[in-house]
Amino acid sequence: PLALLADADLLKTDAFVDGQWVGARRRFAVHDPATGQVLAQVANLGAADAEVAIDAAHRAWPAWRDSTAKQRHAVLLRWFQLLMAHQDDLARLMTAEQGKPLAEARGEVAYGASFVEWYAEQAKRVNGETLPQFDNSRRLLVLRQPIGVCAAITPWNFPLAMITRKVAPALAAGCTVVLKPAEQTPLTALAVAELARRAGLPAGVLNLVTADGAGSVDIGKQFCASERVRHLSFTGSTEVGRLLMAQCAPTVKKLALELGGNAPFIVFDDADLDAAVDGAIASKFRNAGQTCVCANRIYVQAAVYEAFLDKFGARVAALKVGNGFEPDSVQGPLIEPAALDKVDAHVDDALALGARLLVGGRRLSGQFYAPTVLADATAQMLCAREETFGPLAPVFRFETEQQAIELANRTEFGLAAYFYSRDLGRAFRVAEALQCGMVGVNAGVIATEHVPFGGIKQSGLGREGAAVGIEEYLEIKYVCMGGM
Ligand code: ADP
Repeated sequence: PLALLADADLLKTDAFVDGQWVGARRRFAVHDPATGQVLAQVANLGAADAEVAIDAAHRAWPAWRDSTAKQRHAVLLRWFQLLMAHQDDLARLMTAEQGKPLAEARGEVAYGASFVEWYAEQAKRVNGETLPQFDNSRRLLVLRQPIGVCAAITPWNFPLAMITRKVAPALAAGCTVVLKPAEQTPLTALAVAELARRAGLPAGVLNLVTADGAGSVDIGKQFCASERVRHLSFTGSTEVGRLLMAQCAPTVKKLALELGGNAPFIVFDDADLDAAVDGAIASKFRNAGQTCVCANRIYVQAAVYEAFLDKFGARVAALKVGNGFEPDSVQGPLIEPAALDKVDAHVDDALALGARLLVGGRRLSGQFYAPTVLADATAQMLCAREETFGPLAPVFRFETEQQAIELANRTEFGLAAYFYSRDLGRAFRVAEALQCGMVGVNAGVIATEHVPFGGIKQSGLGREGAAVGIEEYLEIKYVCMGGM
């Protein structure tokens, strides 16, 4: 699939450090999850290479920090334009290594690029404050300054957008970055770095260190242990997030964590049922269920339970599964064999505990899994307690609004939640009662660049996107000027 890139120079297999493409004696294979084919052999870096990249970012920092907001704006805006100009190639790289359907990949490129555009604009709006003085011989100021060298570790499910959502605000704020992309999807990441280079980003301001799974662990340790790295931003599993948080304790690093979710999707009996079905399909099956905001538990009120199952089941049964490069595919492969094992385990467990299989429930060829609906799910089942991260929709029946809220909140996670209702009072009550960082009311897909994305409880720390997203990368300094 990569032979068809319009710009063959976007296919990079070396790491990007200090403005240079750097190879390594050791390489690791990147696979197409749809075919198993090896797409490329990418430079496999280790802890010492990460230190070299941190060094480069540290050296590049003073000049970047002292550039004007308008200069940073201009570079970021050029980068945005290049990302959009190469939308098709970036989407091809993404579909090849990640598997999502090409239309979805194009959508992610636009979504990911939108963060670069937004923070290009926000770069010009990092304002300080003057405060009322407590004594007339003084003047009180608040400065907002870039935090310094930032490290980032990103996942494979959004190979582009999870990078730009961190890097764009960091660069806009005047920070420099060392990033380790997911081992499954380095090709998209490297193409994004190449476009940053073409946009005129100075050497060392953005560095990408690529590594396999084992190397990623070592690089992660190096990022956390470095005193020069002042901020770590991570998107991935809660398990790894906890580990990184512990590893960052000795250097008291500022942390941004975007971790797992277990999103409830509630359909009340006053909902527009067709809209709820549309929303559930979009929320659940996007990226084959492999997003941290995908509906994981679908709760439907008793009066509309069977009607919802009929409509939803019919729609799920019609979803076309196939290679993301086939134009009619709406669900691609899962990222790796272990992901299919997890879906299987959740399905087997639910069936053993009394769930009814309505649609799917089986592997197709290779890494493809049939879109699946289970009815009569219960709180005891694994699929209620854990994030499946795959195309499994367990449907639970509930009776009252209070019960729905209690069930929805019965999890250590708190990222996204969704519900459908046409009752205005209920919309406010339930939105306020759900313990999570983001709520979709009559909406199944809610993320965009200018809204705060993030979770509470064990789903993470901090917010990405929106005006608040740049705050992560800024320190506040109070200046008290006396002798007036
Ligand atoms: P997923 O289950 O989505 O693969 P992970 O949390 O395992 O989520 O991976 C997300 C990112 O974290 C990837 O870039 C991966 O290489 C990296 N990663 C995994 N384990 C560690 C670790 N122990 N230290 C640092 N990074 C890690």
